[in-house]
Amino acid sequence: MTLSLSGVHTFHGVDVDFAYLVPSGGIVALDGISMAVLKKLEQTSLTKEALVEQMVISGYSAEAAAESIDELESVRAIQVGASIYEPSQPLPDEFPLQSIVLNVTNQCNLSCSYCYEFGEDKIATPEGKKKFMDMETAKASVDYLFNESGDRASVHITFFGGETLMNFPLMKQVVAYARQEAEERGRNVEFSLTTNATLLSTTIVEFLAENGVGVTVSMDGTKEMQDKFRIFANGNGSYDIIRPKVQELIAKHTNRPVGARVTMTSGAMDVRKIYQHLKHELGFHEVAFAPVTTSPDRLYSIGEPGMDSVLRQFSELADEYLEHALRGEHHGFSNVSDTLAELHQGVNKALPCGAGLGMVGVGPSGDIAPCHRFVDSDEHVMGHITTGIDKEKRADFLGRGNIDTKYDCHTCWARPLCAGGCHHEAYVRYGDTGHANLHYCDWIRSWTNKCLEIYGAIAEKNPSFLQHFAERKAA
Ligand code: SF4
Ligand code: SF4
Repeated sequence: MTLSLSGVHTFHGVDVDFAYLVPSGGIVALDGISMAVLKKLEQTSLTKEALVEQMVISGYSAEAAAESIDELESVRAIQVGASIYEPSQPLPDEFPLQSIVLNVTNQCNLSCSYCYEFGEDKIATPEGKKKFMDMETAKASVDYLFNESGDRASVHITFFGGETLMNFPLMKQVVAYARQEAEERGRNVEFSLTTNATLLSTTIVEFLAENGVGVTVSMDGTKEMQDKFRIFANGNGSYDIIRPKVQELIAKHTNRPVGARVTMTSGAMDVRKIYQHLKHELGFHEVAFAPVTTSPDRLYSIGEPGMDSVLRQFSELADEYLEHALRGEHHGFSNVSDTLAELHQGVNKALPCGAGLGMVGVGPSGDIAPCHRFVDSDEHVMGHITTGIDKEKRADFLGRGNIDTKYDCHTCWARPLCAGGCHHEAYVRYGDTGHANLHYCDWIRSWTNKCLEIYGAIAEKNPSFLQHFAERKAA
């Protein structure tokens, strides 16, 4: 019987080689001989005897080679026989809900050209449905969250839109009601919201700060970048309106980090400049970048050459992140910190995200959707908040989105983190939520490899920095 690699990706830290073990999501440091064994098996499968012989030719002792082979077999980096895909563990029938996203309105006061809710690729069908969520629906949603969350000590409510703050009065009532419910049930509840910041006022900022509501502002960078696509219906840009509001928010909301979320388009691709502006000139704690979800032929689509440039710039910013981490300092590039957190937690996903599983979205009408991006889409409705989730529909959604059914992904080393990618993006690109997002595989693998290198370097040079990722999981 020959030995072969069993789903392993090798990468380099600063002075040490590492192996990312795909079947387990684990990471192990490699000594020279283990790396040599893996490299040899990368070329061809060999019997153990032949492999030991090859190692001896390379200058290692037969005993050391045999020991290394046994160790690699025990961590399942290599195996006897050909590598076969191991199915993920079956999901439990009842999965406790952790968070709910309340789309408190499907209305927005901006007309961003690229918006997935209103733009050319929209899947929402809000015609004839409620535009604003009412308190009855919101209360039922909060009750549903508590009732369906099993014995979780803490649950999370995210407010979303449209533009969330167009229904601020409801949000205030929901915070009060959910807090009261949490207290009566002996549970904890946390809140967050995403906003375009145009409607922030001193009153709202103070409310958010007093109630510890986590805030993410959708913002694309400098005035020139922001005003390219994030515009009002009359075509005016939004930068000048939101800048002072954002600065007031950041100055007053000091008990929770305020983050920015950048939608990268053909008009906003200068990662360094955007990061510099949002982090250092405006003072956001963290900045997350996400390429626009769109069909490739749209004006604002980044396209392949653009994505190569984004990867190059991400890598440069990730190097800066590493410099900070080695000094034990915070850096606000959250695309790196989010990936490091997953690597540190040994994440190995059967599904790309919690949509339809630990999280659901609820639209203004009370329809349940897998997540906020599917809200108000007739095709993706998964039940109603008063009657609960349609288990068959959910099983279908989760079954199709499961990595086990994405055959293209079964030989990919990046699958523990990617698991085929966002269901919504898959639907926009391929018309099927269960399709693997094969248009960005090379990009994902390159980026994941970069994050692994950063992880390895931190593990070698300043391992205590990784501690806060463990604390984050505990939280
Ligand atoms: S979508 Fe591509 S990168 Fe992601 S797991 Fe599948 S094959 Fe790998
Ligand atoms: S389906 Fe996509 S947009 Fe929805 S939660 Fe998952 S990753 Fe996010």
